[in-house]
Amino acid sequence: MKTSQPMSAARMPRDAGGTSETSLGQRGEELRSCIRFVLVMAVFVPPAIAQGKADRSKSTDLIECSVTSEQLDKLNGSPAELVLANGKRIKDVTIVKFVRGSNKDAVRTVVYRRPKRKTASRLRAGALVRIVAAERAYDLVAVPALKGWMLVDVDEKTKVVSARLKAKGRHVWPELSADQQADAVREQKKFLAGVRQKFSGLPLRLYETKFFLFLTDMPAAQIGVYIAHLDNMSVELGKRFGVPPGENIWRGKAVFVVFVNQPSFVQFETNVMNMSPASTNRKQGICHQDNRNGDVIVACHRGNDPHYFAQVLVHETTHGYLHRFKSSARIPSWLNEGIAEWVSTIVVRSSRAPLKRQADAVLRLKQTGVVGPSFFGKKIESWHYGVASRITDSMITQNSRAFGAWIVSIKEGVEWSQGLQKTFGVTPQQLLLRYGRSIGVPMIRLQ
Ligand SMILES: [Zn+2]
Repeated sequence: MKTSQPMSAARMPRDAGGTSETSLGQRGEELRSCIRFVLVMAVFVPPAIAQGKADRSKSTDLIECSVTSEQLDKLNGSPAELVLANGKRIKDVTIVKFVRGSNKDAVRTVVYRRPKRKTASRLRAGALVRIVAAERAYDLVAVPALKGWMLVDVDEKTKVVSARLKAKGRHVWPELSADQQADAVREQKKFLAGVRQKFSGLPLRLYETKFFLFLTDMPAAQIGVYIAHLDNMSVELGKRFGVPPGENIWRGKAVFVVFVNQPSFVQFETNVMNMSPASTNRKQGICHQDNRNGDVIVACHRGNDPHYFAQVLVHETTHGYLHRFKSSARIPSWLNEGIAEWVSTIVVRSSRAPLKRQADAVLRLKQTGVVGPSFFGKKIESWHYGVASRITDSMITQNSRAFGAWIVSIKEGVEWSQGLQKTFGVTPQQLLLRYGRSIGVPMIRLQ
């Protein structure tokens, strides 16, 4: 890894150890208004997701590069491999047929035969993520409007998505072979060996897991809980975005450099990562994201509050995950921070920091009523984190599947506001108004 190359970094200003407890009264109010927001969100219905009926002639327009009924029938009798949502694979089977409902393009059940078996087996389409039939890969995409799943031609879709991303100067992360992944890990370990050399006065030790390289001077007994949080983060994000457990989204592995003390962290950021001291000295963690190859380095210092540190670690790593997921297309700042706050709250239950930020944002908006135009801009302000995470929480609670489809569409090069309209049926302005109503600020304004 060439550390001299600049990397774009998603950064969040954080005061070390700057947590404060949210009072019980505040939390009760938070819960009540969160429930109100979910109820309000439940009223608006995503056009593609929630409409009960869809015209058959339009069903293949609903999902990009989806396969028609006639194409499905041609796959009957093909040799195939089935990839299940739980990551398991069923190899060397023959497709018998795709059982459809009233809409003939939408699959409900896959009937297949294992070798040397007389009776056929059946699987719900929802249990599958991919079918490789007649040497062509098809992803299964849920279409609730059709009460079924559509098969999407992976090669065709890749071409369409690649062209759309290229027009925006972005690209799909290439699939790496086992050898290429091993090379990447070797390169990352070499980089970490260099860090150990530069900080030879510290007891830095490397911990390696399936997906992570974790270099730290923390005592060995403290590491396990943080690694477990990161594993849980991967599972939770994977559930929403359709990444089967056990699938590696990283180039090589995600790299962590975690110091006990803040001065070492600042020294690492300035001397190794070439960051300016001003941009590091008030932060507890930074996620460096390489735009060329997708490498991710999360650097943090532990500070004195282990719960707060755990939340920072998961928050920053989520930025790395969103960077490496599918393509280099950027998730907008408010949503990127919203997801990082949402997942760190559910994974690190002991940290109250995100809830405190939500409550602080509500207090401020009750006084001013103005969110500010930067909320939907390139970089949100630090007080906006509470707004972003509350909106994200509510959207996931209301329709986790629509939320996942929306994020995937952004990573496939669709403009985020267009994707929002298609999946949730609202504009950014309407999203904000609904948030405003849920917190008792019905006249909320962007500016
Ligand atoms: Zn962040």
